[in-house]
Amino acid sequence: MTTPFVNIHTHAETGAGIELVNIDDISATPCATFASAGLHPWNVGKCDHQKTLDAIETLCQSGTLAAVGEIGIDRAISTDISLQTSVLEQQLDIAKRHHLPVIIHCVRAYSDFLQIIRQKPCVPMIFHGFSGNETTASQLLTHGAKLSFGHKLLSDSKLQSVYANVPNDCIFLETDTKQLDISDIYTFAAGLKRISVDELKAIIFNNLTQIFGNRWTTVG
Ligand SMILES: [Zn+2]
Repeated sequence: MTTPFVNIHTHAETGAGIELVNIDDISATPCATFASAGLHPWNVGKCDHQKTLDAIETLCQSGTLAAVGEIGIDRAISTDISLQTSVLEQQLDIAKRHHLPVIIHCVRAYSDFLQIIRQKPCVPMIFHGFSGNETTASQLLTHGAKLSFGHKLLSDSKLQSVYANVPNDCIFLETDTKQLDISDIYTFAAGLKRISVDELKAIIFNNLTQIFGNRWTTVG
């Protein structure tokens, strides 16, 4: 087998390698075989929380999900932070009950997360679209978090140097909502690490199996 590309966070399946597809409408039957679902902070306050959390729990019970997410805290929106935190913590508990990793959406809220991670041991956390600085990265990594980089890596020179210093066993790449080829992000990211695309593929595929075991093998 040639090592596949891994896109750890996307909202649309493209068939390019292994894709962890985020299910945005959890009331619909997820069609992706390697899927994540969660109550996004943007939707907190717009729905019946308990009903949505129950639906996520049901999807976890049925083995439909490989991860809970994206979930998190977003300080750029007006939704009450204590409400966002409470919904997040309930979803971390769901993930813990089902031994699933989580995909984290975090905007201007890294200190909130550091507090949460310090307070209680948690499931593996992948911070998607990571855009924090060197200090934030090293604090999160100390607590076992993984960092996923997407389109911002292509143009943000500060983020490029943060990424270059993140240990290889802690990185993932993603397209999120952008219409980008995951292979283009790999090519760019391999250049920043001064390694070949094949080496980067091997590294990230290994990171995938460390967290997801062989769940991804149901793909295709
Ligand atoms: Zn997303």
